[in-house]
Amino acid sequence: MLNSISQRLQGKVALITGGASGIGAATARLFAKHGAKVLVADISRSETSVADDHPAISYVHCDVSKESDVREAVDAAVSMHGKLDVMFSNAGVVGRNNLRMDIAALERDDLERVFAVNVYGAFYAAKHAARVMIPRNQGGAILFTASYVTGALGESGHPYAASKHATVGLMKNLTVELGQHGIRVNALSPYGIPTPLSMLIEAGVTAKVGLGGAVLEANDVAEAALYLASEESKFISGLNIMVDGGQHLKSA
Ligand code: NAD
Repeated sequence: MLNSISQRLQGKVALITGGASGIGAATARLFAKHGAKVLVADISRSETSVADDHPAISYVHCDVSKESDVREAVDAAVSMHGKLDVMFSNAGVVGRNNLRMDIAALERDDLERVFAVNVYGAFYAAKHAARVMIPRNQGGAILFTASYVTGALGESGHPYAASKHATVGLMKNLTVELGQHGIRVNALSPYGIPTPLSMLIEAGVTAKVGLGGAVLEANDVAEAALYLASEESKFISGLNIMVDGGQHLKSA
């Protein structure tokens, strides 16, 4: 248990989409450890059920591709805890044949499913977070999980890569509008981490080793999210943090 000085989100309320597993679950646990009340909004409760891990974490069923679900999840956070300080739009899907580079074989369905979750879901998260943050006039933080593919070309299929570039574009454009209300908007771009999502990629994702043998884990992304959600980053907005050990610089 951390003491109050080291609890960097004491008194904050956070909503994490895709928080039942992987990066989102690691972030939910870390935010709760740092004093936040956390609402995990996910389409699946997952076997490990992060909401059972800590009394400050609760769960709401939410399909981020449906605006009404996102609206209700945000309203649930406000009715449970009185406000929303942090929106972490993290839910994502890779889509079919994610590694295939074959634009001629692209089907409309491939685009629709990936964009429905990764792009429309990000728009709905930002929209409904702003809806409750702006009138309160206490600022806030909105974070998106993008991907290392926003800094390294040819590392995924086109729909996924384009969806994550769209997420970063949305993030940057929002900083101007929401900055007037003291709301900071940033993104995180992880390299490969073995999670249920990354295992759907052909051949799966193996643990990434770099920087003198360090292995990238979901918690490394959670630590970056903690920084962006906390007051320690109070003058940081419009940043896409690459959590990749500098890998995108080698691949660009
Ligand atoms: P994960 O599979 O562990 O978690 C993804 C979560 O999103 C799951 O709990 C899933 O149920 C949820 N989800 C999927 N569709 C949803 C929907 N429509 N509505 C609500 N929730 C939904 O995977 P992860 O690796 O932790 O992925 C989290 C984010 O990180 C994604 O946006 C992904 O694109 C991104 N990312 C992952 C990696 C990696 O290698 N793992 C690398 C770069 C970016």
